[in-house]
Amino acid sequence: MATTRKMTTVQTSIDERETFVSLRKSFADSEQDTQQKLKSLYELQCTDIEIDRLMQLRGELPEEVTSLEKEVEALKAKRAGIEQTVDGYRAKIEEDKNHIVELESEIADYEKQISNISNSREYDSIEKEIENQKLLKAISEKNIREAYEAIEDCNRDIENIDNRITIREGDLAAKKEELAGIVESTAAEEKTLMAKRETCTAKLDERTLSAYDRIRKSTHNHLAVVTLFPDNGDGTYGDACGGCYHTITPQRIIDICSGKKLVICEHCGRIIVNPDI
Ligand SMILES: [Zn+2]
Repeated sequence: MATTRKMTTVQTSIDERETFVSLRKSFADSEQDTQQKLKSLYELQCTDIEIDRLMQLRGELPEEVTSLEKEVEALKAKRAGIEQTVDGYRAKIEEDKNHIVELESEIADYEKQISNISNSREYDSIEKEIENQKLLKAISEKNIREAYEAIEDCNRDIENIDNRITIREGDLAAKKEELAGIVESTAAEEKTLMAKRETCTAKLDERTLSAYDRIRKSTHNHLAVVTLFPDNGDGTYGDACGGCYHTITPQRIIDICSGKKLVICEHCGRIIVNPDI
């Protein structure tokens, strides 16, 4: 009965607000040996340090590639927008040209009419119509001239954008190649480390892993598991937390050294382990 309850507790879905208290509880509830668990956590941290080191070799390159890709995409979208504007101007030019043809035919009709008219009032009225149509024609001609000028401006903008796209695509290709080179040179090592990481995570329950990830994310050096500081290199250690360098009380140092208890630094929240367990 008790075993069933313990299992249920460990398998509960991960709560984002999970506290260190629950991490302690997870250790207490787990059927896995604390010492073994701390060992797996330490191994996981050591592997992650190596993976972080590999990722650091890539530096800012992945972000630079993404940012350049976005920039090229934005430039292409801007170019497409301008092309659409040009299409609009061209359609308007066609419209005005057709309008002019209509107006010219109307003017010709009126001029034919006017030559056969003797009544002066009718003559004046038709002459006024002709004047009106000529005015409309002039407006359409002006519209066409302006549309052609606007198209020229657009074409200049497109040319500028094309130049920028060419330059940015060149930068992008170079960055991608550089990144691919680094990725390739470290691929084998990365694969080994990832496999090692998987072996470590397989030994830990979800709750513990979730807590580990959160502590790692919240610390500037991405260390969730640390040893006592300093490491004298001869199997002996100092009395400070290896993460924040605050002094640890003697009782907690005994707990850390025994490896039988989960010890979390009261100052920085990192898990402190004895690497020799
Ligand atoms: Zn600390």
